[in-house]
Amino acid sequence: MSNRILVSECVAKVGEQVIVSGWIHARRDMGKVAFFDLRDASGILQIVAVPAELGEGAELAQKLRSEWVVTFTGTVQARGAKQINDKISTGTVELLASSITVLNQAKTPPFELDQDTRQINEETRLQYRYLDLRSERLQKNIRLRDQVVTFFREYLHAEKFVEIETPLLTKSTGETGAREFVVPSRLHPGNFYALPQSPQQFKQLLMVAGFERYFQIARCFRDEDQRGDRQPDFTQLDLEISFVEREDVLQLVEAMMIAMVKHCTPEKKIQQIPFPRLSYQESMAKYGNDKPDLREDKADPNLLAFCWVLDFPFFEKTETGGWTFTHNPFSAPKSEFLADLMAKQNINNIMTTQYDIVLNGYEIGGGSIRNHQAPALKAVLEIMGLDEENINRRFGHMLEALDFGAPPHGGIAPGIDRIVMLLANEPNIREVMAFPKDGNANDHMLKAPSPLSDQALRDLHIKLI
Ligand code: ASP
Repeated sequence: MSNRILVSECVAKVGEQVIVSGWIHARRDMGKVAFFDLRDASGILQIVAVPAELGEGAELAQKLRSEWVVTFTGTVQARGAKQINDKISTGTVELLASSITVLNQAKTPPFELDQDTRQINEETRLQYRYLDLRSERLQKNIRLRDQVVTFFREYLHAEKFVEIETPLLTKSTGETGAREFVVPSRLHPGNFYALPQSPQQFKQLLMVAGFERYFQIARCFRDEDQRGDRQPDFTQLDLEISFVEREDVLQLVEAMMIAMVKHCTPEKKIQQIPFPRLSYQESMAKYGNDKPDLREDKADPNLLAFCWVLDFPFFEKTETGGWTFTHNPFSAPKSEFLADLMAKQNINNIMTTQYDIVLNGYEIGGGSIRNHQAPALKAVLEIMGLDEENINRRFGHMLEALDFGAPPHGGIAPGIDRIVMLLANEPNIREVMAFPKDGNANDHMLKAPSPLSDQALRDLHIKLI
């Protein structure tokens, strides 16, 4: 197969003999002549199968069906002006086949892959995700996602960030209201790891460790009741920087987003640069929510309206009358409220350094400047009503680390799934993830979650109730 070329390369090979391989995307029979659309990773090419050229292969041509995997040898020929198909990138040429090899047959797919599969029942699409992924739209979405992630990686490396992996088997981070997924420990009966809701604590510890600029394409896990737009595992562009103030983070992220849009989706236009900034109060008063859709023309698929929402209240009342954080317990208050935080007074008025970045009505990321001094973090935890024992057990390692010379630091974590969803004009993040779960956290392809055998449960020291 070493001589095989991609169908996209045929455009520049008129008159040459070539070998192409891929899937039969469609076939059209016109009397003795059959036309095939051959699909590979680079696109679609029209194959012309005429008995005079194929000889014995003509019989085989009769048998080829959709999604069979085939190699064609033949001569690339220019199409006549009237035959040019500007809907496909190889539309100026076609391949006159001289031989056919079948590499594999295929069952008839449960849905048609040359149509928009969004019309198909989602359970079926998810069960046969590897087939759905063959469709043009999903191929485009997943490739766009790759471009976006690659862009962020290269951009941040150029800005002197270090990409660092942090563990997935970890301990409860307790940084959002969400529940955690837990993993039983076989080696330590009765003990559990938690999957990270985000690498929040690790990235702060990397600041203590002196890396100064960290990022990671981070998988995050949240065991929340599912809503259409949520997935139990999802991906963030997690980053953290030392020696910064809020303004530094906002500027870095804003410049990165503008450059990303320009590079990955040049057809899009950003409504307003610099991104408008609203206070939480203002956003609630004007739009009734804290993720306003500022697009002037909501019918324009290429319009992107970013904005920042700032100055959130740090705490809110719990149902039982205590206090909890609105976003992130590790956040610092705005400096003018530090005295109130330390004195645990006027709690209602304390504002956090939290910032959210919003795009077309979706929160696509949030972050903050952190409390880099232990007493301030401790004050937050105490306001939340945690006693000394609880604080030490859950956050002792953080308080201790901050005491070893933590630099001032802050960061943010834009959500890759939502960003790509909006760039791809898709209605939900499942359309931009290769292997998503359904709205109820089911994996229909692997059938997860699934029960464990009695033996496996015994090994894990688990008894079901
Ligand atoms: N860890 C935060 C989150 O997942 C983001 C951050 O504050 O950097 O929302």
